[in-house]
Amino acid sequence: MRIRIRFRMLYLVARAGSHQLQSKYMESIVDTKGVEITWCGHATFRLTTLGHTFYIDPFLKDNPACPAEEKEPKPASFVLVTHGHSDHMADVLQTARDPKTKVVGIIELNHWLVAQGLKPEQSVAINIGGTVELAGTRVTMTPAVHSSGIEDGGAMVYGGDAASFVMEFAEGLTVFHAGDTTVFGDMGLIADLYHPDIAMLPIGGWYTMGPREAALAAKLLRVKVVIPMHFGTWPVLVGTPEQLEHHLEGSGIAVLRLQPGRTVGA
Ligand SMILES: [Zn+2]
Repeated sequence: MRIRIRFRMLYLVARAGSHQLQSKYMESIVDTKGVEITWCGHATFRLTTLGHTFYIDPFLKDNPACPAEEKEPKPASFVLVTHGHSDHMADVLQTARDPKTKVVGIIELNHWLVAQGLKPEQSVAINIGGTVELAGTRVTMTPAVHSSGIEDGGAMVYGGDAASFVMEFAEGLTVFHAGDTTVFGDMGLIADLYHPDIAMLPIGGWYTMGPREAALAAKLLRVKVVIPMHFGTWPVLVGTPEQLEHHLEGSGIAVLRLQPGRTVGA
């Protein structure tokens, strides 16, 4: 077990009935091995390690769940995009405004981004199963069961397949960001291959899996910690972290409830 959780103390805190206290306690005991993980709301995360910042699915300015201090993207070395829906890539070009910033996405998606003004040398266009090493972090594109059209004027343009990402940091932490997906059996292959420690999983339902499916996903992925995401942003995204915790009871998998704007590992 690479993530250190004091379950006995967590149980006592949970019994105290304060979700806020529980969240603070979880934040303090999850060992991210020096990687700072900030949830910007919805599916957007910023991870910083060894002087490099990664954004995953930057959706900031029009993201109702994004706090004011995160609306403007911080300087970033890398941007990872799981798929072409606007709630995952509305702010990719703004986040990659520095021509040194690289954008990792599936080939069709990156082709479209280059047509919109991303410089070709900024594009790291890969496909599912491919791994790139970015400043010491190995990033692998993995599957998602979802769609990926891109709204382009009045049309919906083909954006390639929807994806997820595994990030293997040099410090020894491995993170899985599921993108938008439902649970699928091959999450077991992701566990076999990459041994993720932490998974960011959508739980809102409607467009993605909900808490029941996400609990099974966490078990298939064999992670120690789940950070729930993609819930509450709009009224149809009804799944809650409490429901996820209920479905994970007895599994030994902890739910880390970050508030938008909160950082763990700082
Ligand atoms: Zn989405």
